[in-house]
Amino acid sequence: MKLHEYQSKRIFAEHGIPIPNGEVAITPDQAREIARKLGGPVVIKSQVLVGGRGKAGGVKLAKNPNEAEQMADQILGMDIKGLTVDKVLVDQAADINEEIYLGIVIDRALQLPVIIASAEGGVEIEEVAKTNPEAIKRLPIDPQVGLMGYQARNLAFDLGLRRVFVNDFVRILTGLYSAFISTDASLAEINPLVITGDDKMLAVDGKIILDDNALYRHPKLAELRDIQEETDSEREARLAGLSFVKLDGEIGCMVNGAGLAMATMDIVKYFGGEPANFLDIGGGAKSDKVAAALRIILKDPKVKSILFNIFGGITRCDEVARGILEALNEVQTNIPMVARLVGTNEEEGRQILAEANFPSASSLGEAAQKAVQLAKGA
Ligand code: GDP
Ligand code: MN
Repeated sequence: MKLHEYQSKRIFAEHGIPIPNGEVAITPDQAREIARKLGGPVVIKSQVLVGGRGKAGGVKLAKNPNEAEQMADQILGMDIKGLTVDKVLVDQAADINEEIYLGIVIDRALQLPVIIASAEGGVEIEEVAKTNPEAIKRLPIDPQVGLMGYQARNLAFDLGLRRVFVNDFVRILTGLYSAFISTDASLAEINPLVITGDDKMLAVDGKIILDDNALYRHPKLAELRDIQEETDSEREARLAGLSFVKLDGEIGCMVNGAGLAMATMDIVKYFGGEPANFLDIGGGAKSDKVAAALRIILKDPKVKSILFNIFGGITRCDEVARGILEALNEVQTNIPMVARLVGTNEEEGRQILAEANFPSASSLGEAAQKAVQLAKGA
């Protein structure tokens, strides 16, 4: 789950990281009022859950409350990478001399949190990673030990920071690490961390991505979810307890089990098709879940066929077969489908589908090939 910039920065502030004063506005009028209270120049920042807002015109400087109102009026309602801006953060503008990149992510290969830092931060950080990778420092952290003071100091020297900034940098990095660990984040990032004209360090931007699997430990953070930022399909899937990831292909996949869902997508590709989604409907797979999953898959106009791949363990294939038919009663569609059912009560399951003229297959290869043919209109 992604947090907004203003939410992320508030968490950073709780961990001792200096951030600009500011407040969120949902109307140009409110933006003017906030700018008036802050006094001096402000920056109006679209709050949408994508990166690259600056380049997209979603971050603008305003010299006074009048301009703040105008800029907010321009930015509110704006479309940024498919998301509509419905709130802006009005922050005291920073007088920026230098922009540093500072982030922490989980490195899956190392199985450790890794601190990533560069003295060449800002909106071009991806470009720096490509053209000047040596400018990006990486520091793996042993989570049993935590971030040690000397590691943070060494990193500051590695980045070539001037001596006067070393203590501030260490305090900010220590705060970022504790924010990352205590929220069970998969990413915590400040880009840019700036050095201002009066030699202060300030986190001008902030981003946190929380690990959904750990959200149950953080009910307060779970409340920060912005419903409006979810697509309809994502929301429906989450509420129905389904793991769903939309992809670009034409073959809808409905599978019980995450590993099996990955294998199903591989087999679909192997036979020349492209999966339209990853979907794990989980164990049990009663008709209401199958129906919800079917509705979600069918929302995608690119879907040309649907492949059901069900492995009956505790789940009984006859129950799933009945679930599929009940779901089809509820969700009317002409999209062709094929099911592969194996495991507990598979004969009964296939019998039930056969009686309803629902095509099924006993091997995954056969079912996947059929789904690919159906998608091609064969
Ligand atoms: P992003 O593009 O979504 O990452 O949004 P950022 O918050 O990082 O803003 C993009 C860029 O706008 C930053 O790299 C800065 O160069 C600039 N910017 C953001 N806030 C300020 C500010 O307070 N003052 C000044 N002068 N520039 C700012
Ligand atoms: Mn940024």
